[in-house]
Amino acid sequence: MTLDYLSRLPGVSTRIHNVRGTQQVLTEIYLIGDTKSLLLEDIQVLPGVERVIRVSEEYRILGRHRDEQRAIGFEYNGVPFNQDTLNIFAGLCAVDTPEHTEQMMAALRDHGQVCTRMGAYKPRTNPYAFQGYGKSCLPYVFEQAGRYGIRVIAMEITHEAHLVEIHESLEQAGWPTGVMVQIGTRNTQNFELLKAVGRQQEFPVLFKRGFGITLNESLNAAEYLASEGNSRVVFCLRGVKTNMGDPHRNLVDFAQVPVVKRLTRMPVCVDPSHSVGSREHSPDGILDLMHAAAQGVVAGANMVLIDFHPKPAKALVDGPQAMLMNELSWFLEDIALARECYEKRQALSRQHMAKVATDGGAHRVPD
Ligand code: PEP
Ligand code: MN
Repeated sequence: MTLDYLSRLPGVSTRIHNVRGTQQVLTEIYLIGDTKSLLLEDIQVLPGVERVIRVSEEYRILGRHRDEQRAIGFEYNGVPFNQDTLNIFAGLCAVDTPEHTEQMMAALRDHGQVCTRMGAYKPRTNPYAFQGYGKSCLPYVFEQAGRYGIRVIAMEITHEAHLVEIHESLEQAGWPTGVMVQIGTRNTQNFELLKAVGRQQEFPVLFKRGFGITLNESLNAAEYLASEGNSRVVFCLRGVKTNMGDPHRNLVDFAQVPVVKRLTRMPVCVDPSHSVGSREHSPDGILDLMHAAAQGVVAGANMVLIDFHPKPAKALVDGPQAMLMNELSWFLEDIALARECYEKRQALSRQHMAKVATDGGAHRVPD
């Protein structure tokens, strides 16, 4: 009845979007078109309406609009993703051999990790470069993931057909693990791919910012996923192209973690591997990769995507930027320190706010 009424409003069309939370399913009805003359109070009293929000034009679904405190968190295969959690996705940039995949997964299991990255479809700059093993490697990747307790694998796709291949392989293996479909930086504005990935609800999405476009353009592109129905999206910062970033592969953009958390409700990921692109270290002995990852986490990142490889010299893609298996403990401990620092910084900020509120402006500079 409410929907009938809303869809009869002149100059206004409706779009329905179901948000699957951990507790309930929320139906959002978007009124699109000439809505300026509508009064919030008139809509608030319609049956079944819990809340009415006037949203700004940008990032309608993923954006954090005025007075909007609702998080966009979701749980996938038992792993929670939201703006307060932190998940580490260490793994292979590209799957090469079953042995390397297994060594990676065993190390993760030994360190209590339940997420990884495994590239099967690789978008390469050079058409003659290795393009990934594609669907042929999926059976053993999924079987091993199940065996080593991996619950979520971040895996880039470059074509919507890959969704079907992943689904079929998971089905054949008996769904031993979950896949978070990754949209790479080279496909950030591949709108048809975004629409196809947005239309399916099965896999959540790790969406990488475009390396040569503005943040605003990247956020609008992410909104394509949500506008088609999939708002289980994690937004990934991965550096931007500019020679000002040299000698890093890209200019690290992790200062934008809090910006994305403020502008949108998406959890934010940082990818130090594809930002920094090397194993250089500073005189303190800490790899630039680890410095960048820690910077992201200290700024509140909710996910870290990072390349590791048991034998980087044998890796078919991005060996020179891979961290080593015997660096996994060090890396995880370093991240835990950075996270602790972020949590202390949050507490400090709350303490400051409380003090300002009770002081009632006692320290205000006189006019
Ligand atoms: C990757 O994560 O493997 C990758 C290719 O990243 P990006 O799209 O950020 O270059
Ligand atoms: Mn890579």
